[in-house]
Amino acid sequence: MKAAVFYHPDFYKKGYFILKDRVKPGFDALENLINQKKLQHLTPEIDSETEELLASTHSPGHIASVQAEGEHVTALLSASGVVQAATKLARAQLDFAFCFVGAAGHHASYDSYWGFCFYNDAVMAVKKLRQLGIKKIMIIDVDPHFGDGTRNLLGHDQDIIHINFFGNSGVRKFDPVLQNYDVPVPGYGDKSFLQEMDLVFSQQEWDFEFLIVIFGHDSHEKDYGNCRLTFGAFPAMAQKIKQLADDKPVLFILSGGDNPDVASVVIPEIIEVFVR
Ligand SMILES: [Zn+2]
Repeated sequence: MKAAVFYHPDFYKKGYFILKDRVKPGFDALENLINQKKLQHLTPEIDSETEELLASTHSPGHIASVQAEGEHVTALLSASGVVQAATKLARAQLDFAFCFVGAAGHHASYDSYWGFCFYNDAVMAVKKLRQLGIKKIMIIDVDPHFGDGTRNLLGHDQDIIHINFFGNSGVRKFDPVLQNYDVPVPGYGDKSFLQEMDLVFSQQEWDFEFLIVIFGHDSHEKDYGNCRLTFGAFPAMAQKIKQLADDKPVLFILSGGDNPDVASVVIPEIIEVFVR
């Protein structure tokens, strides 16, 4: 198992003010895994390739707005790590990657953004994977808020399976042709969330080459989302995702969450499931 964490100190120094305080504690909690050489630490950097992917994902007006808000550099650095992780996974230089970010991505559409998201890191990674010849990609979004930006940008693509679990009220909608699955989790707590994962994952054979997970720990009861999960749900969730991935490359992208005490427990526990 070749596993890496992508992390830059600017994610907590210059990250979005609501999200940044969980970043360093989450990374520091990986010290043992890094010391035991179960996990490499790689530091992302912005390069011309990520600039090009950004320009093909968002409108010039969108990018100008993010620049005016002062979030451009950290958001692009965050997406750069995700793209670099996807590249290494596609080339079989890694089997598993976890990407920290200074700003999230799944609420960023072509020409609009909200909810602490600026640039859609997962969509930029998908574009890079396509350049590398990977066609069929599954995206599982377990952030408790619906990933509307990702859906707006990729929902038309029949080779992308997009499964969105979310805790806010919404309509259950399965579209097997476009492979878009909206899964509002009924009620609160670990049991209902994990049951929904089992139900959806087991309903058919899933045909994909690469798995991306949008991971928001705002689903924890001590964080700001509304799923009210406890600590036990996170390794269980990771186990189900690992089983589904079945040795295909797995890319975790950090999403919502602001509680350092939650991040420093759930992030190492999730990574442990994959690198053990
Ligand atoms: Zn969220």
